[in-house]
Amino acid sequence: MHLARFPRLNLGHFPTPLEPLNHLTRLLGGPQLWIKRDDCTGLATGGNKTRKLEFLLADALAQKADVIITQGATQSNHVRQTIAGAAKLGLKAKVFLEKRVTDFGEDYQQSGNVLLDHLLGGEVVAHLEAGTDMALAMEEYAQSLREQGHTPYIIPGGGSNPVGALGYVACAEELLYQSSQQRLRIDHVVHATGSTGTQAGLVAGFTASNSGIPVLGISVRAPKEKQEENVRQLAERTRELLGVKGELPREAVKANSDYVGDGYGLPTESMLEALTLLAQHEGILLDPVYSGKGMAGLIDLIRKGHFRQDENVVFIHTGGAAGLFGYRQVLDAYRG
Ligand SMILES: *Cc1c(COP(=O)(O)O)cnc(C)c1O
Repeated sequence: MHLARFPRLNLGHFPTPLEPLNHLTRLLGGPQLWIKRDDCTGLATGGNKTRKLEFLLADALAQKADVIITQGATQSNHVRQTIAGAAKLGLKAKVFLEKRVTDFGEDYQQSGNVLLDHLLGGEVVAHLEAGTDMALAMEEYAQSLREQGHTPYIIPGGGSNPVGALGYVACAEELLYQSSQQRLRIDHVVHATGSTGTQAGLVAGFTASNSGIPVLGISVRAPKEKQEENVRQLAERTRELLGVKGELPREAVKANSDYVGDGYGLPTESMLEALTLLAQHEGILLDPVYSGKGMAGLIDLIRKGHFRQDENVVFIHTGGAAGLFGYRQVLDAYRG
C-alpha cells in the first residue's frame, strides 16, 4: 500500500489525538475505552469528512475544476466541511440539501451546520424534498454549468467513493502508528456508519496491512444487511484503487443497525443518554445524528457483555457537534 501515490491536500490537523476515556470506562466497568478524536480535524469545527476531502478536493484540482458540487441532509456535516475546504482553495461550492428529517423547528432549518454553510460562503442551490434523487439533481446542475463553460466537480453524498475512502485508509495507518507509539493493543474499533466511506476506508486499510483489527459500524440509517453490503462494495473498490491483491474476507465487514431508532436524524433515548454521559463525564461533545447513536450502540454492547474486560476498544469520534445547535428543541425537552 502506498498512499502517497494519490494527490492529497492539507486541510486538517493530523494526526488526531488517541486518548483514554477513563471516567466512562470506570462508569461502565470496562473494557478500557479510547477515543480517536476525528472531531478535532480542525476544518470549520472538524469531523470525518475532512480526511476524505483531502483526497477528493486534490482530485478536483487535478481535474481543473472551478466549482464544487455536493449534497446532504439539511444538517449535513459533510456539506459544511466541503464548503469550508472549497473556500480554502478559493473555489465556489454549490450544494443541494435534502429535507430528510421531519422538522424540529426553526433551529433545525437555520442554525447549526446551515448557519455555518452560509457563513463559509456556500450557495444552497436547492433544498429538496425527502427522497429526491440527489445524484441526478447534481448531475443535471453540473451539465448546465458545463454548458456555461465551467468545470464542475461532483462529490457524492458523504464524500463516499473510493477516492474519498482513501482518507480513512490514512486513518487506519495513523491508528496503527499510534498503536505502536503508545504500545496500545487495539482489540476493536467502533464508529457510526452512514454513507460508508469511513468504514470502507478503515476496512480496506486494516485488511491491506493484515492488522486483524475488527471494525464495527453502528448504522445510523440502513438495516444491517444493506449497510454491510454497501460497506463491502465500497471497501472492495477502495482496495482495487489501492492495488491490494486477494479477496476481502467476509467477516471483515460488520454493521449493527439496532440503534437507528425511528430513522435517520431522529432522536433516540439512548442517543440522548450517550450525549449527556460523554458531555458530563468526559467533557466531550457528540452529535445527535451520528456519533451520539454510535456511542449509544457501544455503551449498550458493553452493558450486554459484548467485550472482554481486558480489551482495548477505540471509538472513532467522527465529529458533528455543530449539528447540536439544530436540535435545541430536542435537547431542551430531554433536560426537562
Ligand atoms: C458523515 C458522518 C458519519 C458517517 O460517516 P460515513 O463515512 O458517511 O459512513 C459519522 N459521523 C459524522 C459526524 C458524520 O458527519
